[in-house]
Amino acid sequence: MPNTRKFVYTFAEGNKDLKDLLGGKGANLAEMANLGLPVPPGFTITTEACRAFLATGDEPRGLRDEIAEHLRALEVRMGRRLGQADDPLLVSVRSGAAFSMPGMMDTVLNIGLSDTSVAGLAAQAGDDRFAWDSYRRLLQMFGKTVLGVDGDLFEERLEAVKRAKGATSDLDLDAADLRGLVATYKGLIAEAAGQEFPQDPRTQLDMAVRAVFASWNGDRARLYRRQERIPDDLGTAVNIVAMVFGNLGADSGTGVAFTRDPASGKPGVYGDYLANAQGEDVVAGIRNTVPLADLERLDKRSYDRLLEIMGVLEDHYRDLCDIEFTIERGTLWMLQTRVGKRTAEAAFRIAAQLAEQGLIDDDEALRRVTGSQLAQLMFPRFADDGTGAGRLRPIARGIAASPGAAVGKAVFDQATAVEWAHNGERVILVRRETNPDDLAGMVAAEGILTSRGGKTSHAAVVARGMGKTCVCGAEALHVDTTRRRFTAPDGVEVSEGDVISVDGSTGCVYLGEAPVVPSAVADYFEERTTPHDDADELIAAVHRIVSHADRRRRMRVRANADTADDAARALRFGAQGIGLLRTEHMFLGDRRKYVERLVLADTDDGRAAALDVLLPLQRQDFAEVLAAMDGLPVTIRLLDPPLHEFLPDLTDLSVRVALAEARGDEAADDAALLGAVRRLHEQNPMLGLRGVRLGLVIPGLFAMQVRAIAEATVERVRAGGMPHAEVMVPLVGDVRELQIVRDEAAAVFAAVTRETGVDVDLPVGTMIELPRAALTAGRIAEAADFFSFGTNDLTQTTWGFSRDDVEASFFTPYLDAGVFRVSPFETLDGDGVGRLVALAVGEGRATRPDISLGVCGEHGGDPESVRFFHDTGLDYVSCSPFRLPVARLEAGRAVVLADAAQRGGGDTR
Ligand code: PEP
Ligand code: MG
Repeated sequence: MPNTRKFVYTFAEGNKDLKDLLGGKGANLAEMANLGLPVPPGFTITTEACRAFLATGDEPRGLRDEIAEHLRALEVRMGRRLGQADDPLLVSVRSGAAFSMPGMMDTVLNIGLSDTSVAGLAAQAGDDRFAWDSYRRLLQMFGKTVLGVDGDLFEERLEAVKRAKGATSDLDLDAADLRGLVATYKGLIAEAAGQEFPQDPRTQLDMAVRAVFASWNGDRARLYRRQERIPDDLGTAVNIVAMVFGNLGADSGTGVAFTRDPASGKPGVYGDYLANAQGEDVVAGIRNTVPLADLERLDKRSYDRLLEIMGVLEDHYRDLCDIEFTIERGTLWMLQTRVGKRTAEAAFRIAAQLAEQGLIDDDEALRRVTGSQLAQLMFPRFADDGTGAGRLRPIARGIAASPGAAVGKAVFDQATAVEWAHNGERVILVRRETNPDDLAGMVAAEGILTSRGGKTSHAAVVARGMGKTCVCGAEALHVDTTRRRFTAPDGVEVSEGDVISVDGSTGCVYLGEAPVVPSAVADYFEERTTPHDDADELIAAVHRIVSHADRRRRMRVRANADTADDAARALRFGAQGIGLLRTEHMFLGDRRKYVERLVLADTDDGRAAALDVLLPLQRQDFAEVLAAMDGLPVTIRLLDPPLHEFLPDLTDLSVRVALAEARGDEAADDAALLGAVRRLHEQNPMLGLRGVRLGLVIPGLFAMQVRAIAEATVERVRAGGMPHAEVMVPLVGDVRELQIVRDEAAAVFAAVTRETGVDVDLPVGTMIELPRAALTAGRIAEAADFFSFGTNDLTQTTWGFSRDDVEASFFTPYLDAGVFRVSPFETLDGDGVGRLVALAVGEGRATRPDISLGVCGEHGGDPESVRFFHDTGLDYVSCSPFRLPVARLEAGRAVVLADAAQRGGGDTR
């Protein structure tokens, strides 16, 4: 079959919206080239080609020819051939996926250099040192990423040369040193890789492309994707771009820039610059950079041009952009741009600022923030009133790279971070600088502290992406990872295991544990204060965007709340009712003894007596919550867990009875209780006598609870209130179960109406939390006024694994193996559990079009799941009070994201 697919695109053929095909880097290079900005010529190999390669282990048919064709065109345009002996064209081979994965995949620069062309490059540049430096960099990068030689071996050889010369920086090495190093590196490659470094430029190119494809599945990249919830099947694009050189002397250099401060969102000049250096040096944080503002002094013309381009980019993308650039002998080149990663705080500030400036509308502002970012802003920070970090003296100050307050034991390598965190310790990972191999430790740590590197160093970029506290470039600290300690300027020594506190908002590092205080954003929600003009800009931004979400959302939000206090808190966080009031806590504490009596009663009278004691207590509980939620719906769930949960532990009780017997004591009560506990003991209690099953086998239990609800309603009506209680039956699997409880409830409502003269007829509905309930939802709806999806149990029973046990026992290997992208208890499993939800929604509505549909499992407060529930057509989500702001935001985002998707435009990040 002839090959009809196109795997290679020139920049002229691409644009910023083709990220899925060309990756972010390729799409944005194309966009910049088409804007007329100075981008070195090149082309992009699609993610589709990568996917084909990963599926078969080979380049797809036609790819080699397409590359050859584009390479020829590039050579014609540049007037030089790849690797040409007297004047070589050199190219970079860079990865670039649809989602940015900084430093996670491979890049090879200076492809095309060889033993012959290195002389041509030297002659053309008039600079021997530059040519040999470029060649040794190629050998190093190619050796490590393409041929799999341990990168440290190259570093060791480089250090040895520096040591022999007494040099402190690579810049002190001259052409002869670097030439010697090239010979050493070639020997190292031959020995360690078992093959010579290829001298043929096209072979170099093909091998580098394959290595970049393969790096998609490298350990680092997989871990990062799991962390960032990026799907595993996207593949990376590969960009092949004519090299420009930042290492051509003092009038050359390379840097990164942001159009706004990625930490605060404030407009200005932010970034780092490194003179006489090539690409990766800046991001790797190897040499310390100078602030971008210093470039004005070093090269005013390039600086002015850069600022002008930054303005063009921000206007064009209508967002914060980050940029990588290189200056080659006074000429500025743009190597990359993208809508920049930012902290949660900056995301809200920037979105609100741009909306305020009229650059974007409020819908777009809402699309540009996420529920996870809002959740981060609701995290605590250090107390600054003298009781917290303010009372401790900072031992050092670094760059505030990613905000938040982190306290933990200092650890100095990623393996220890992982191990200690696994054992439940909070740790801070302390390194001179981080590199992608440290990722697992960064994930495990509460915070990250480095002594080198700027705001764009690996540590800073990755920590910000993860929403993790990070202080970097604390240069005054002497970090000794071998001895596992660091020393602060005034001699304070911190060893592995010592507790430190790290403030990612100020850059301060403290010895000891600083107390933390809640976030101002959480306070704002809690108090429901309305910001005014001079209020904190962040609060104003959150207020603006969440208020807009409230205007746009279709779904209502309710809270899972069991007490009047919880209900009051939920109201402050924006609850529009209670979606789940669990009644189990009402049977604990002092009341446990009444449950024991209920279980032990062997006559109807005995049972009725126990229930009679519980009735007024329950009525009081319900009346208080109904008062707190006056005018709003309150869904009260009848007792769910197995009764033995309210009884003493089998082993404890057995011991007590045995001891009493041995002493010859009279312990009839305990003996009877032991009998009951034994009778009720189950191997799989979560699949046992619980939920509606209890209601059917313990006569009077559910009727008592329903009566308490009905009487509380009467009490509230008589007090002038507007109670809206709803009765919810748990763990229903068949309509008949629900019908029995419903009939019983109807009899209670009729009785209470008769007794009190107040008309009580409350909605009765059910949880849908068993697969059978979802599968027979059409029938169940005949007896249900509402469904509330119990996605905790529905996940447990659909997968067939215990929600209480499995997260600790096998989720980590399941995540590693890619069975889960994320725990299904955290984010709804749309493919499986979600299909059951969708089925039940459809069938429920078909039977009863006005049925009310909600969710009250943990997923009701998870950002991604909230959007799923919107798309599935639920009327409301219910979650714990603290998560309500996130649910409100995401319910609004679901609407504006769907709008944008329908229009086929908008930024649906
Ligand atoms: C559920 O199963 O999703 C639910 C909300 O009920 P519980 O967590 O109390 O079992
Ligand atoms: Mg449940």
